Amino acid sequence: MTIHQVLKQYWGYDAFRSLQEEIIQSVLDGRDTLALMPTGGGKSICFQVPAMAKEGICVVISPLIALMKDQVENLKAKGIEAVAIFSGMGKREIDILLDNCIYGKIKFLYISPERLLSPLVRERIRHMKVNLFAIDEAHCISQWGYDFRPPYLHLASLRDLHSDVPILALTATATEKVATDISSKLTFRKGFKVFRKSFERANLSYVVANEENKFRRLLKVIQSVKGSGIIYVRNRRETQEVARQLALQGIAVAYYHAGLSADERTKRQDDWKSGKVPLIVATNAFGMGIDKPDVRYVVHLDLPDSLEAYYQEAGRAGRDEKKAYAVLLYNEADIEQLNKNLEQNSPSLKEIQQVYHHLGNYFQLAYGAGEGLVYDFDLADFCKRYQLEVLKTLSALKILEREEHIALSESVYLPSRLKILADTETLYKFQIAQPSYDGLIKTLLRSYGGLFDQFVAIKESELSKRTNLSTKEVREMLEKMQELELLSYAAQTDQPQLQFLRARLDRDHLAIDHQYIRERQAIYRHQVSAVIEYVQSQNCRSKQLLSYFDELNAKNCGICDFCLAQKKSARFHDDMESKISGEIQMILKNESLRLEELIPKLKFGTEAQQLKQFRVLLDAGLIKNQDDKFYS
Ligand code: ADP
Repeated sequence: MTIHQVLKQYWGYDAFRSLQEEIIQSVLDGRDTLALMPTGGGKSICFQVPAMAKEGICVVISPLIALMKDQVENLKAKGIEAVAIFSGMGKREIDILLDNCIYGKIKFLYISPERLLSPLVRERIRHMKVNLFAIDEAHCISQWGYDFRPPYLHLASLRDLHSDVPILALTATATEKVATDISSKLTFRKGFKVFRKSFERANLSYVVANEENKFRRLLKVIQSVKGSGIIYVRNRRETQEVARQLALQGIAVAYYHAGLSADERTKRQDDWKSGKVPLIVATNAFGMGIDKPDVRYVVHLDLPDSLEAYYQEAGRAGRDEKKAYAVLLYNEADIEQLNKNLEQNSPSLKEIQQVYHHLGNYFQLAYGAGEGLVYDFDLADFCKRYQLEVLKTLSALKILEREEHIALSESVYLPSRLKILADTETLYKFQIAQPSYDGLIKTLLRSYGGLFDQFVAIKESELSKRTNLSTKEVREMLEKMQELELLSYAAQTDQPQLQFLRARLDRDHLAIDHQYIRERQAIYRHQVSAVIEYVQSQNCRSKQLLSYFDELNAKNCGICDFCLAQKKSARFHDDMESKISGEIQMILKNESLRLEELIPKLKFGTEAQQLKQFRVLLDAGLIKNQDDKFYS
């Protein structure tokens, strides 16, 4: 099939958007390719279409599990075979999926980068007939990017697995420096291509305001803009507080943060997406991968940590290309806070060692043990237990991640899953020997198909209803059968995951790269000062953001707060000029006057403006002079 046929058949689209075709062609020519496209630009098509046009499987690396799951579901809905592998899945489960990728008809394997740290996984990929490596969120490979993720550094090893398979790196945000870093870290081969779509958002009006009373201003935005909106705040507590205050004003609003249960998060997100609750107050955990076109405004009530993050979050407004607003409200205290965070983001070696030590104790690991173990990880609980500061601890964890002691992943909801390991005969013998298990096993087999072949999502509550056992009893019995190796059972989770990549060390033997710690601080400082410059400088906002992304020739947008203020003052200026001219002409119609007699009679403008208008009128022949006196 040609790429146009693929696009039509699977996606139902008639034409490619700008750059999509060029990017796809470059990949089909076998070139390593870097695609820089703003969110909503249509990046997925760039790897999905060429992968469908060719034989073999496309391996997609993505750090965002929710996004991965979404894309897999979307592909499946089109009748395309796709699977995803990420943290929190058991070893056996992963094994089966990888096998399917080698021997089955699977077209897309989505995998999170830390999974590639495992030599076993890499070995399996070597045996796949890979047609393309797609690296999503490719800026994560650069420590100059705002979202550096150490496991990304290992992606270059994909090249060793299949030296002639092209790599397509995609990102919605990258400065020139990051772009260069991406192509070098991924060891792009000679002849590679870079495509950059402008990050300009012509329909988005950026507004920055230094406000003491942010809430009052927020109300004004909500009342005047109408439609759907997102309000970003810095922490979970604030989401609730701001939502409560808005509700008191009779505004339909919900709040959202990662601490809510998975069900609750899904419900709130769906209600917002459908327009049932048009407004949501959220932490930055909200919005990634949500494709809602008609968001009319995004308000930030706090300063973001970087312009990259700001551009992403603000950019969720106005995807439908209709007029929308990105409003950033701040005051001096926020600038102070941002500078303070800078310090918080820079843990000392001692503090890093301390966090590492606490981690080992938290999970009760013996020294020399723990390699490969994965745990649910609740950062808030961990910090509370050892009285640690959250921001600093998070930074320390990131540094430990970079040193490959641990790997972190975001929270993700996984239902309970189960696969039967025993053969039918062994299982049957067990049922006879243990009659109390007979009902549960029969119900399992009756309710779910394919249990002998693969992991199947199950619901303990359903099993409980059908067996008259309590949910707790169901769980305990499944665990017991797991102990007996009759089945493999993974209980549901929606927690972030922490994996120990190496055995626990004594804290004093923990080696940390000092150079890296210093560089990290410098990068963070650079990002923070760019944010402060953005809010304080007097310039077109769109132009400032674009120039941060190295688009240097952008024009004034004409719709940001700066451009609007400029237009207003120009209008005011024009008005003033016409008032002065009118007055001069009116006076000089009635009497002839010397210049020094005329000026004191004028009511409008400054003397300089009056003299200027006088000269303009004279040059235009609208006033004339005779014997030092002027008349009109
Ligand atoms: P990104 O990953 O760049 O944010 P997506 O790949 O999610 O963007 O695409 C954004 C939206 O645009 C999706 O709904 C997608 O189906 C749609 N889209 C992408 N390419 C095209 C196209 N050529 N024609 C019409 N719609 C497209």
